[in-house]
Amino acid sequence: MKKISIIVPCHNEEGSVPLFYKEVNKISEEMKKDAEFEFVFVNDGSKDKTLQVLRELSDKDERVRYISFSRNFGKESAMFAGLEASTGDYITTMDADLQDPPALLKEMFAILEEGEYDCVATKSTNRKGYSFLRKIFTKWFYSLIGKISETEMIPGARDFRLMTRQMVDAVISMKEYNRYSKGLFSFVGFDTKWIEFELEERVAGKTNFNFKKLFSYAVEGIVAFSTTPLVFAALVGIIFCLIAAILIIVIISKTLIWGDPVGGWPSTACIIFLVGGLQLFCTGIIGEYLAKTYLETKNRPIYIVKETEKSKKKKK
Ligand code: UDP
Ligand code: MG
Repeated sequence: MKKISIIVPCHNEEGSVPLFYKEVNKISEEMKKDAEFEFVFVNDGSKDKTLQVLRELSDKDERVRYISFSRNFGKESAMFAGLEASTGDYITTMDADLQDPPALLKEMFAILEEGEYDCVATKSTNRKGYSFLRKIFTKWFYSLIGKISETEMIPGARDFRLMTRQMVDAVISMKEYNRYSKGLFSFVGFDTKWIEFELEERVAGKTNFNFKKLFSYAVEGIVAFSTTPLVFAALVGIIFCLIAAILIIVIISKTLIWGDPVGGWPSTACIIFLVGGLQLFCTGIIGEYLAKTYLETKNRPIYIVKETEKSKKKKK
């Protein structure tokens, strides 16, 4: 009998968690001949009643475990904590809002049981429930990172994937602080089968990712899995040196031939702004890498736990 660990990062999901549990429980009933289930909910600093809901669930059902963070650490940290805590043979991460259909678990389980693959990953064919702007920026992001990163990033990939213990152990052996899981899953290798599904809208509550959060998530992904922006900065430098060399020759020859009429102040101002701007832009790129390196060297914990289903029981 195989054990499946379901990891669910939750931030303000009091409405979704009961519905999620009900749906997955249904599937676990249908699969009870082949697999047992373990739920690892990670309460990522929710401001609503998510923690209470989780406490009650774990009282009711001993398969339900939870980890509650001391504050909001972000979905990536929550997934990492769940992966570390999981004890199953097969492990999956799923969003609490039921956007990842639990019914797929049966198919994913069957594929892994065949033994040919180490991971069954999902991608969505649509982006239902997401704003128009978000769809466009997501598309741009994937086409950009696809070009500049050596690690393969699949457009539309979800974090919903069923992995073997071996693969999960490889993922948690990477203790980096800036975690971009889509990249890490791809980086560790192993044989992955991709299946597609149609995305549903979230069942309750609202999205936790506003534009600002998504933008910094995108930057994180790029900085973590590509050094091309640094090469770009160097290239801009080289191009501008070449332009400068040509300009020096042209301007000196013109001055020698036609003398030195005063003028050209507007063009000079434009050039100063352009070059100054580009310099700051390139410094910014370097700064971004430096900042991430700085954070890594501090070696801070990826998450801090305040309560688990075990520590709750001791309190009583
Ligand atoms: N989430 C989390 N911590 C955060 C933000 C999100 O644990 O800081 C969880 C959230 O509860 C959900 C999943 O990550 O289970 C995906 O979030 P959401 O559905 O809001 O994102 P979207 O579907 O809009 O990308
Ligand atoms: Mg969602």
